[in-house]
Amino acid sequence: MTPTASEFDRMWAELAPVGRGRDGGYRRFAWTREDATLREWFTAEAARRGLDVTTDRAGNQWAWWGDPDTDGPGVVTGSHLDSVPSGGAYDGPLGVVSALLAVDVLRARGWHPARPIAVASFADEEGARFGVACAGSRILTGRLPADRALGLADHDGATMAEAMRAGGHNPEQVGRDDETLRRVATFVELHVEQGRGLVDLAAPVGVASMIWPHGRWRITLDGQANHAGTTPLADRDDPMLALARLIGEVRAAAERRGALATVGKVQVEPNGVNAIPSRVTAWLDCRAADEDAVRAVLADLADVGPTEESWTGATVFDADLATRLSGVSGRTTHSPAATPRTRLTTGASTAVSGPGASGPAVPILGTGAGHDAGVLSEAGIPTAMLFVRNPTGISHSPEEHAARDDCLAGVHALADCLAELTR
Ligand SMILES: [Zn+2]
Repeated sequence: MTPTASEFDRMWAELAPVGRGRDGGYRRFAWTREDATLREWFTAEAARRGLDVTTDRAGNQWAWWGDPDTDGPGVVTGSHLDSVPSGGAYDGPLGVVSALLAVDVLRARGWHPARPIAVASFADEEGARFGVACAGSRILTGRLPADRALGLADHDGATMAEAMRAGGHNPEQVGRDDETLRRVATFVELHVEQGRGLVDLAAPVGVASMIWPHGRWRITLDGQANHAGTTPLADRDDPMLALARLIGEVRAAAERRGALATVGKVQVEPNGVNAIPSRVTAWLDCRAADEDAVRAVLADLADVGPTEESWTGATVFDADLATRLSGVSGRTTHSPAATPRTRLTTGASTAVSGPGASGPAVPILGTGAGHDAGVLSEAGIPTAMLFVRNPTGISHSPEEHAARDDCLAGVHALADCLAELTR
């Protein structure tokens, strides 16, 4: 077994029990006990490698190889360690583990980076607790104002400010962090693919071209609470029936407009078996390859008055950077990734020309999933993403998976990219 493989196994085994439920899914929410365990794990892994750890104003962790304040801004790689409710093991942690291993690989190669390299672990990427995805990177870049972030409340009414304080992070310092942003020249996030694009292309690793525009909306349906056993059907004002209709309408609108739309979370009041609800709140997630399609779905649902909770326009990653990294990724592993270079955006494939015939090139493809990389890209930081093949295509579920060999191919591809960016 190679040192990279055994280190991968060690780190993966250490992370495996943290926040794992009986169904095999993970509950690793921001500023919880599990989150604290993961933060300590990250700090310990950085210390093992002699990397200097800092925590920025938003609570994101950075482990530096070299000093970005004296040797210029550096190349940052990493992802997040938190999860959605009953999430998979790979979404997030694969990027952090791969980043740490890529540092090991570069050192084993005797690489002397011409500029500093950092591994980042972003806070609260999934937004599972406070409802805003990529909260750590959005606070960092000022996209999510501190007062709004700190006032967000979880299901039990605890605010983000209270949760941060309990997690050992001072909420008074929260806000856009220019000092940290100045240290970042380029960001590369490796992530398990959340779809089957790479399976179809028979490639273990790919490079991202864009993140689809996406948003979240809240829909409140009001009715009249009453007794389930004494209220005649004709006299009821039952918002649960309105929810049932709404879900069908969401699906129909998404099909009509060529979008993806999901009602994945509902809240029922009073939520009693024998009570007609007084109110049902539903959350809508909608994405598409182009913004007009999303807007059209929302227009179709205008009569239920969706309230926008978050919106992120299309993020088109730096095309030159994507092409460059596609050309070097996997150069050292000679992986079987040298399939025709393809750009996937709306499901149709279009061949794109590569930088030259020399060396393997990995496919370039789009995704409907949001990432910290998208937030940093929107903030003007040259950003790229690598995807690792997910054989099931399933994500945000215990079924999410990546083969160990593909994960290791991802580590080497990432190391190739970091070498390219620090030569
Ligand atoms: Zn993720």
